[in-house]
Amino acid sequence: MKHAVFSAAAALVFVVLMAMIQKIGLASAKSAAAAEAQHGAPAETGTVQAAQDAPEGRDYDGSHQIRVLQGETLREMDLRTYLTGVLLAELPDSFAPEAKKAQAIACRTYALRCGLHSRHDRAAVCTDSTCCQGWTDPESVSPSRRADAEAAVRATDGLVLRYGGELIDATFFSCSGGRTEAAVEVWGSDAPYLQAVDSPGEEQAPHDTDEIRVPLGEFQDRLREENPDVVFPPAQGAWIGAVSRTAGGGVDQIELGGRAFSGRTVRRLFSLRSTAFTLTLTGDEAIFETRGYGHRVGMSQYGAEAMAEAGKTCAEILAWYYRGAQLAPAED
Ligand SMILES: [Zn+2]
Repeated sequence: MKHAVFSAAAALVFVVLMAMIQKIGLASAKSAAAAEAQHGAPAETGTVQAAQDAPEGRDYDGSHQIRVLQGETLREMDLRTYLTGVLLAELPDSFAPEAKKAQAIACRTYALRCGLHSRHDRAAVCTDSTCCQGWTDPESVSPSRRADAEAAVRATDGLVLRYGGELIDATFFSCSGGRTEAAVEVWGSDAPYLQAVDSPGEEQAPHDTDEIRVPLGEFQDRLREENPDVVFPPAQGAWIGAVSRTAGGGVDQIELGGRAFSGRTVRRLFSLRSTAFTLTLTGDEAIFETRGYGHRVGMSQYGAEAMAEAGKTCAEILAWYYRGAQLAPAED
């Protein structure tokens, strides 16, 4: 929902929606707790035990093969090896076990969904983090690093996230800068479980806040290349016009040089960490101050780490970022 035009009717809809979202949020927190109970309460080691309805001795990840495209090379491996490599590539080693387990479940869900709707001909996923999920060959790291990542995968063997019975699009990113973004604001397609939520405690993230400085000449040139109709009058005060923001704090639209640009376009043009930015002009520079890093849709990795450090379980972390999604065993 945009905040730029906000009539009384829109305000009413907003209030009703917020009430619904809160309700869904509460329901999901409850269902996640229930799911955890179903999967066995955390043992003293803090592991999520195998789902009760899974067969005894079930080894889903170890028996499930996945085709992975690494550069031009097609590799086939079991899901455990793949997910261990994803954790090694996507998360700092220092993260808490519950954050790693939440990431393992999100990545398993993502990979299995990719297997159903792959963007690759011969493989379910590739190892490019900007396309699918990053992957580091577990054989290439030290045994202790490998064992640590594999422990999070084994502790969540076969667990996925579903909404309405379907595997969810379990997107994640580095850090939000305080609040995540709804999928519809970034990709134009809505998902009930990918809405804007608060994500506190990310201050330790390397790019919680950032600053990009662009010389004014370059600033004008890049905008002019994108839209030749921009006009920059002598008075700088007129260069920046109205700004509207998304519910997640990103820039939805910003008027620059008399023309409207989407926050996503501005992010791309100036290689910003995120669309959650402010812009100020000095005498000779445009200064973007950003919050967060990534598309900011789904689970914040540093937010998950903050929750884990605060004692939350992986089920609670996932319920927070993927509202209404259910933890469930994967099906063959
Ligand atoms: Zn890919």
